[in-house]
Amino acid sequence: MNENIHTEFKRMLGRDSKEAQTGQKGHVFWMYGLSGSGKSTLADRLERSLVERNRFVKLLDGDNVRSALNGDLGFSDVDRKENIRRIAEVAKLFVEAGFIVITSFICPKIENRLLAESIIGTGDISKVYIEASYKTCSERDVKGLYAKAKSGDIKQFTGKDSDFESPLSEDSDWIINTENSTIDTCVENLLNKILPMTERKH
Ligand code: ADP
Repeated sequence: MNENIHTEFKRMLGRDSKEAQTGQKGHVFWMYGLSGSGKSTLADRLERSLVERNRFVKLLDGDNVRSALNGDLGFSDVDRKENIRRIAEVAKLFVEAGFIVITSFICPKIENRLLAESIIGTGDISKVYIEASYKTCSERDVKGLYAKAKSGDIKQFTGKDSDFESPLSEDSDWIINTENSTIDTCVENLLNKILPMTERKH
């Protein structure tokens, strides 16, 4: 770190005071999965459901972050890693402010998901794999990206030219399959876990 930078963490009001104000426990729900697997759909529905229950939530979405904060980054391995590092740092800031954070990024590499976990802290993150096969996602083709990948208009497409690493059997990540369950069921399953986990114990 630069010798002229003097961090002010000690003088800042602690997380507990913030959580007392929001009345909840801050936590990151790190949703990852192929493009079209259902991350944005579920993140949007979850955010609404949580806000209806007076929870404080911040949603961090792939395309939004890439068009602004991370607008300078591409899709090389180095840039993908930096993309995740910045998102994790931002998510951590929100957790420290007593927020529930829902992130929605492809995040295909186990190494980068572990990086996010190490930045945020194991107790403050739940990694949630939004599972759907490449075939299903390419049939949905919500953004027309699978057609472009097929014709070669997009290079380094995740799941085709660039690997998507599914969670290993020993990973503690949650798995939400969007092929076998409706959107409503997926949201309900997620809420059943998220609500008790973010309850503030007095
Ligand atoms: P991503 O954000 O992962 O790229 P989107 O949420 O944009 O994916 O697109 C997912 C598509 O799959 C949407 O058209 C959605 O309606 C559809 N879909 C079908 N079943 C589900 C489900 N159980 N959960 C989420 N999305 C689903």
